[in-house]
Amino acid sequence: MKILVINTGSSSIKYQLFDMTQKTVMVAGLVERIGEASGLLKFKVYPGTDREREILHEGAFPDHADGLKMVISLLVHPDDGVIRDTSEIEGIGHRVVHGGETFQSSTVVDEAVINALKENIPLAPLHNPANIKGIQTATDLFPGVPQVAVFDTAFHQTIPAEAFMYALPYELYSEMRLRRYGFHGTSHRYVAREAAKMLGKSPEQANLVTIHLGNGGSITAVRAGKSVDTSMGLTPLAGIIMGTRCGDIDPAIPKFLADNRGMDIDGIDRMLNHESGLKGICGSNDMRDIHKKADAGDERAALALRMFAYRIRFYVGAYMAVLGRTDALVFTAGIGENDPEARANVCQGLEDLGVVMDSAKNEAKDRKARFISADASKTAILVIPTNEELEIARQTMTVLGGHNNG
Ligand code: ADP
Repeated sequence: MKILVINTGSSSIKYQLFDMTQKTVMVAGLVERIGEASGLLKFKVYPGTDREREILHEGAFPDHADGLKMVISLLVHPDDGVIRDTSEIEGIGHRVVHGGETFQSSTVVDEAVINALKENIPLAPLHNPANIKGIQTATDLFPGVPQVAVFDTAFHQTIPAEAFMYALPYELYSEMRLRRYGFHGTSHRYVAREAAKMLGKSPEQANLVTIHLGNGGSITAVRAGKSVDTSMGLTPLAGIIMGTRCGDIDPAIPKFLADNRGMDIDGIDRMLNHESGLKGICGSNDMRDIHKKADAGDERAALALRMFAYRIRFYVGAYMAVLGRTDALVFTAGIGENDPEARANVCQGLEDLGVVMDSAKNEAKDRKARFISADASKTAILVIPTNEELEIARQTMTVLGGHNNG
């Protein structure tokens, strides 16, 4: 069964074609700078194998459809394409950022779903319009192939009301659905399932704290395979300290800035999203640069690293209390997978809570899913590379009634 996964942004399309039967990635690539004078298309066949081959194409892609048409022409190219005809693709899975309360799980797209997605645009004004555009473009260019929407928010729809409600006037929830939604759900779901396998448990038996640390970051408490709380909120601004986002702050700060610094609401919003977080503290948002600066004696960079680890540890403690019993902490995404120092700083001092790291395992250079806890640790510590595209392909297959062989 061949499944195409598409992640559409306002000026980009990322895509991967999976052969779910052979469990291989046939093609992975992206089209970027759509709508600009010059765009770039990357098309990599059988990535990571000895058959790997990359095609790069620079040129203008006035619209998303132009980019996707070129991807299709490469997929079915008579000499070096990987399929004969687009009808070989049995389903297309789309990443959709915000499903609101309407979507508890992935769903086949029809007219009613498109309308519901449009109703959710106020919840994700930057992302959902692009995602809808991706679905509509793929519907036109792959006639007859079912389209499936996979939501970043859906995994978190099991969070109970006491955790998702904000203590604001109730009408804001009943009339506007203003509440915590959470994001990165596809990643949290993927690593939770992989973690359960590594622990020799079914997903329903595993209690986990999943820690996704990329440019954006979020932490989720997973009880018996289901999300019961997560650090992001109505928007992806809440929670831990991120590359450029502030995470949790006193909600009175925006008014304080308006009163005392003459800032308007858009300027404050821009500052909290793009000029805060690690960048706000030390001028860099890339973790590798921050380590270099800290190693060279930069005190702000060292402070940023301490703040980052502290806030994550704070959430880990809170979620271990929420869960009561925690089988594993799971680190994933760019920083979680590649930064032993950040992982060590997060877990520092948690030994009496039953979380004991094995430093040698933590520092070992390894890209595979692995245990980094001491054998005696009551709560395991795992590093699991996330794979949101594969999770979207699995979800697409499940929704279309295919056997999910993940
Ligand atoms: P995104 O949220 O954009 O998907 P990623 O999951 O790719 O982000 O994570 C990006 C972050 O991972 C950056 O802060 C980057 O510095 C960090 N990162 C990547 N490789 C390493 C590494 N070897 N050591 C430390 N941090 C790393």
